[in-house]
Amino acid sequence: MEEPVSKDPRWMRGWPIVAALALVLALQLFGQVFSVTELPYSEFLQEVARHNVAEVVVSPDRIEGHLAQPPAGGHDRFVTYRVDAPLAQQLQAGDVHFTGAAQGGWLSALFSWVMPALVFVGVWLLVMRASGRKDGLGGFGGGLLSIGRSRAKVFGETDIKVNFDDVAGVDEAKAELQEVVDFLKAPQAHSRLGARMPKGILLVGPPGTGKTLLARAVAGQAGVPFFSINGSEFVEMFVGVGAARVRDLFEQARGHAPAIVFIDEIDALGRARGASALGGQDEKEQTLNQLLAEMDGFDSRLGVVVLAATNRPEILDAALLRAGRFDRQVVLDRPDRRGRVEILQVHLQRVHGSPQLDADAIAALTPGFTGADLANLVNEAALAATRRNADDVAMQDFTTSVERVVAGLEKRNRIMNAQERRAIAVHEMGHALVAMALPGTDKVHKVSIIPRGIGALGFTMQRPTEDRFLLTRSELEDRMAVLLGGRAAESILLAEVSTGAEDDLARATDLARAMVMRFGMDDKLGNVTYERAPSPLLPVSAELGVPQVRQYSDQTGRDIDIGIRRLADAAFQRASDILLGRKALLRQSSDLLLTRESLEGDELAAIARAACAPQPAATVAAEAAATLGR
Ligand code: ADP
Ligand code: MG
Ligand code: ZN
Repeated sequence: MEEPVSKDPRWMRGWPIVAALALVLALQLFGQVFSVTELPYSEFLQEVARHNVAEVVVSPDRIEGHLAQPPAGGHDRFVTYRVDAPLAQQLQAGDVHFTGAAQGGWLSALFSWVMPALVFVGVWLLVMRASGRKDGLGGFGGGLLSIGRSRAKVFGETDIKVNFDDVAGVDEAKAELQEVVDFLKAPQAHSRLGARMPKGILLVGPPGTGKTLLARAVAGQAGVPFFSINGSEFVEMFVGVGAARVRDLFEQARGHAPAIVFIDEIDALGRARGASALGGQDEKEQTLNQLLAEMDGFDSRLGVVVLAATNRPEILDAALLRAGRFDRQVVLDRPDRRGRVEILQVHLQRVHGSPQLDADAIAALTPGFTGADLANLVNEAALAATRRNADDVAMQDFTTSVERVVAGLEKRNRIMNAQERRAIAVHEMGHALVAMALPGTDKVHKVSIIPRGIGALGFTMQRPTEDRFLLTRSELEDRMAVLLGGRAAESILLAEVSTGAEDDLARATDLARAMVMRFGMDDKLGNVTYERAPSPLLPVSAELGVPQVRQYSDQTGRDIDIGIRRLADAAFQRASDILLGRKALLRQSSDLLLTRESLEGDELAAIARAACAPQPAATVAAEAAATLGR
């Protein structure tokens, strides 16, 4: 948070009370000093004797009252200070002009009024400050005078340094938001023809793709204040506070127009009403309703644009998405390779990188990474470089960091017996050789038997050379063959297969099932979908693991099972054939892997060349016969 836009600090908002106190005080003093005559006690006694006193109020040492006939130019109200009766008689007898001493006089009266007031105001200020540091309900002091306002605590940021240059790889989104920037820069000029800006724009995308960053960049680019709240802030509130906060948000933004109102993670707030069985519904509904009312209630020509961000647009209440509210959506996707290069370039500026650093090479290592992942990767690499006391961050720091981020931390110290290690080496080499032998599969970058992460005992790291959006049937079959290559290698070289292939089998089966049920790739079942893609669009029931309703007959179910089985068997057969034809290579390379623990670079390239070389049919047949006869 930078400097708040709200002009007055919150304790200043209590000024009406201070003013009222001062006024009362002034009136009191005025009344005391100017509309009352102070009579000497002796004169008072004379007035009594003359029957000129209409009424009195007697207190222990002070008498106030009315004169029936005030003296010329005097007031009818008077006050006098008593002298005790025996003394008064004596003094009267002696014809003395006398009066009692006022207790303190008006100055002390002033202090007796002002001091408590000052103390009160002081204590109150302290309470206000203290509560100002807490959030929401903690600050009971704020609630005394300005419920909603002080609790809302919406701060605007005026001087946002982030702009479009800091957000990379999302050119389409930026192009769409450029219009908003132009509008915010000159709202009048823009509404010249009566067109109005969309009131609300929803930024949609997976976590870490830069939604929050982009929203701030719009404000920074346009140079307008940025008022933001996070949907999750409303979750713990009492009824009414969230609504007050929303009201305050819009009120302040209108006061500072042109401005941006940003509601981050709006799904926490705008979840379809009644969709959640959990508590807090009333509060969320009230807040949501307030938000809807505010969005309807302002004219976008004023220059206020509402941005919101979510990674789950499908659970939003339909009312939020209708025209006139968040009717425009800007999608931010995981960056493609070019996008990753641009994002890396932004973040590499912030570290001391070696001149040889190649953003393109790093991007090639990181398919699927989001902007946040890449920012994290650059930081990890910088840390790695620091650890090895390097002068600058080099490519090797990135390679280690990628592996770290992708596969979890290396645990070299895990002890395994020799037999297990050999099984793992054979298994991983099986994956690798099948992948190498099949043209068009992702390049194998590294094979390792160093356990890392949970579950995986070794790994074969394949990296796509480009981002893919469509996969053909044969590519899917190749993938399945690679997945089953581990098990195939075990069955060829080892006496027994092991549990090491569990995850491979599961993934291969998933692929086969998807091919049969979703992609219409089984000849017998035809171009029919029997299952929807598992998507975040699914209702809550799917999240809870309730299976989808089966929409096909038992007969079809059986055909599906057979189809899946057929694909899996075919893939296993292909993998086995490939490995049988390269049995010697498999044995050699898995021995090498066993001693080296991990293989990459030139050694791996040499193995790959050998794997790709055409294998004489005779060898395949001979190996097959030898293995079967074993
Ligand atoms: P989201 O709100 O979509 O979850 P953020 O905007 O919070 O993601 O992004 C987190 C961080 O990741 C940003 O602060 C930024 O450092 C980095 N980042 C994400 N996307 C990008 C991008 N497109 N360009 C540059 N940096 C990005
Ligand atoms: Mg965010
Ligand atoms: Zn495996």
